[in-house]
Amino acid sequence: MNQEIQAAMAEIKEVKKAAGARKRAEGTAVKNALKAAGYTVTRVGHGTGTGSGWLDVEVDASKPANCQCAITPRNMGRCQNCGNVWSEVRTNVLALAQQVTGRTGQYHGNIQASVALTRKYT
Ligand SMILES: [Zn+2]
Repeated sequence: MNQEIQAAMAEIKEVKKAAGARKRAEGTAVKNALKAAGYTVTRVGHGTGTGSGWLDVEVDASKPANCQCAITPRNMGRCQNCGNVWSEVRTNVLALAQQVTGRTGQYHGNIQASVALTRKYT
């Protein structure tokens, strides 16, 4: 292998290392901001492969006290009240993540927010 190729490979390695450090810093900043805002953060990370530019944010939230899932037909999934909470939390999480990262554009700046309503009321 000649020296130019070795130099190019070393450069690529450095670029990847810097990108990794940027992603870790971004993830930490978002996680801390969400926690400070009172969210239960279950995961903040980046996608892999072609999705590596995406920021994935997962939070856990409580079902509302007026949850009617028990009387909602099974094929409807979550009840309307849970749907409202899910939608509100997701909107706020995306807005905060965008604010912290400065990400804009399509798909909330390539941020994916997942909200799991796993707990009963707060
Ligand atoms: Zn419900």
